[in-house]
Amino acid sequence: MKMIFLGPPGSGKGTQAKMISVRLGIPQVSTGDMLRSAVREGTPMGLKAKAMMDSGALVADEVVVGIVQERLAKVDCESGFILDGFPRTVPQADALQACLRGLGKDLDVVISLEVDKDAVVERITGRRTCRDCGKMFHVRLDPPTQENICDVCGGELCLRDDDREATIRKRLEVYAEQTAPLIDYYQRFNLVQTIDGMQDISQVQDQILMAMGGK
Ligand code: AMP
Repeated sequence: MKMIFLGPPGSGKGTQAKMISVRLGIPQVSTGDMLRSAVREGTPMGLKAKAMMDSGALVADEVVVGIVQERLAKVDCESGFILDGFPRTVPQADALQACLRGLGKDLDVVISLEVDKDAVVERITGRRTCRDCGKMFHVRLDPPTQENICDVCGGELCLRDDDREATIRKRLEVYAEQTAPLIDYYQRFNLVQTIDGMQDISQVQDQILMAMGGK
């Protein structure tokens, strides 16, 4: 299964992509996670990306396209993958088409998660991310066992710079302007399945699995 998860920040696409990835045994390819790990490691790409990410803007197309091309060519993507947070612009979607053509692959489905803007702000400001391993928690919906400590590695949990309210509003604007047009883009190929992301996590997952069932 080769799929894309589309949705505004806070729509739950990362959470759902992770669950479906485990369930189907195919990798979750998250450009946000890859960029954050480059930032943590202080690579030249990470240093360049950080300012854009902190401000809520998008990282340059050529940077993300390069990392996705490299990732999709790896052997674990042969039987499928879940793209989470990519593509986010029309030029990225065009580059993905070209990349998949080169690999002799086609997309099976694009899952579009729809959510209410204000609910998204509440969801995201409650997120806490581990400084060391990147695992995400939510103060109300998915709290860690010990306050501010990661259940997985014991690292310190923090509010991501780009999860602050002003930045979230900016990211929502960027989504509406640059990423939402991809719904029409993929509708032309009849690939889009729209899911109500305001339901609880397990209901959303069931609906995604049902939408994939037809593919
Ligand atoms: P995410 O974790 O997917 O919400 O991504 C966090 C931030 O990483 C975004 O706000 C962007 O600054 C950057 N980013 C992630 N994926 C992309 C992408 N496909 N294109 C450009 N920037 C991206």
